[in-house]
Amino acid sequence: MKRTYKILLVALVVIFTGIYITKQNSKEGKHPKYIFYFIGDGFGVTQAELANHYLKITQGDTASLNMYKFPDLGLYETHCTNRYITGSAAAGTALSTGHKTSVNTIGMASDKKTPLKTIAEKLRDNGFKIGIVTSVSVDHATPAAFYAHQPSRQMYYNISLDMSKSEFNYFGGGGFLHPNGDGKINEDDVRANLGLSAGNEVKDKPSSISVAKKRGYKVVKTKSEFNSLKKGDDKVLVFAPRCAGGKSLLYTIDQEEGDLSLPELTQKGIELLDNSTGFFMMVEGGKIDWACHANDALTTIHEVLQFDASIKKAIEFYKKHPDETLIIVCGDHETGGLTLGYAGTHYESYHHILKNQKMSYEMYAKKVALFRKNNTSFSKAMENVEKNFGLGKKGLELTKLEMQNLKEAYRMSMIPRNKRIEDEAFFLKYGYEDPFTTMVVKTLDHKAGISWTTYSHTASPLPARATGVGSRYFRGFFDNTDVPKKIEKAAGLK
Ligand SMILES: [Zn+2]
Repeated sequence: MKRTYKILLVALVVIFTGIYITKQNSKEGKHPKYIFYFIGDGFGVTQAELANHYLKITQGDTASLNMYKFPDLGLYETHCTNRYITGSAAAGTALSTGHKTSVNTIGMASDKKTPLKTIAEKLRDNGFKIGIVTSVSVDHATPAAFYAHQPSRQMYYNISLDMSKSEFNYFGGGGFLHPNGDGKINEDDVRANLGLSAGNEVKDKPSSISVAKKRGYKVVKTKSEFNSLKKGDDKVLVFAPRCAGGKSLLYTIDQEEGDLSLPELTQKGIELLDNSTGFFMMVEGGKIDWACHANDALTTIHEVLQFDASIKKAIEFYKKHPDETLIIVCGDHETGGLTLGYAGTHYESYHHILKNQKMSYEMYAKKVALFRKNNTSFSKAMENVEKNFGLGKKGLELTKLEMQNLKEAYRMSMIPRNKRIEDEAFFLKYGYEDPFTTMVVKTLDHKAGISWTTYSHTASPLPARATGVGSRYFRGFFDNTDVPKKIEKAAGLK
């Protein structure tokens, strides 16, 4: 009898230990097989919070950003080697290689000579399939930081040649900026990349798209081709059928039926990359930054919401593979010095009035160009402003000072750019975009209780949000270079 009990006890201990070990392996001890790395360009704490608050006031109090539900959160610093306020190339390199570098350098040390291996390349060499997705051009700084090694982010042709050399499995974005070898070029690097003999200038530079095709990439440029891509299709390069400025996807607020979106590119990536040895996908919300450079709050909100909708695609995948998936959401730097308060509105916020805005600053500036061409009067222009931004209608009456500012901005916009004097006062008021458009958007943002301090980036620390296997590594206060190191650690690379 005693013996039977003993055997039973040993058997129970063995069974429970087995259950415990299995549980440990599937949760704490295991490395993720599927890694999503979301990077919002120009995406700081306030960009996320503004979009989250806008969701609540437009969809109800229980609405929230998907990324706000992640269990783990950390905060990190962003400075680069030669500037306190970083740029996308240096920040992208920090987030991709774990090394600080100088402004404008892609995937290289600050000597602009030493290439640095990226997390995507390391995972590729460990059997992961790799996807790189962005809402801007595929050769832009952030995506480039994961596959290219160039002394300048402006060497777009070199970068696009590096793309097809990477052997990564999936790329998606707006297009290439200089596929035909115009623009800034590193000749020696072109020769090395194409296997040409040293010495002479490279004549008849082949299009980097045709080079990609030669290297086995399927280049997809229409929506129907995109839709028919299916699991098993490898080495795919997707360009948007219709682009906005800078070979980017259209701003979310300006997108129409049939335009390619970031969530679609993300979902397609999951379909194409899903395989038994795992995958890594970097998804960049690239135009949050651009909307913030232009100080356009509602366009920023829609970019953040679409970025978050892309994250939702990853969450849906994670729910099917909860013990094998890691999702990280980061930013490269904050842009615009976005502040959720304004001197003129004291302690109040009126974010709901932003929904009067019908299009991005980029789209509206095209209308203002037509006003200039047609000699449209200020009062007629203001009728149009009321239609597209609500300014001047009941409840959104303009003060004397606001009217004065708009009139002066309109006068500036009616002078062709090459004929007007853009002095210090001009720049502080209007920044880089069309003066009237900027003032219209700024007036609406101020009335909503939102303000901006700069048309450039800021050095605000940024949050890292994480969920899934290994998300606990992303707690605490650290440096941007720690983010890819934490991914490596979670993935068990070292
Ligand atoms: Zn920027």
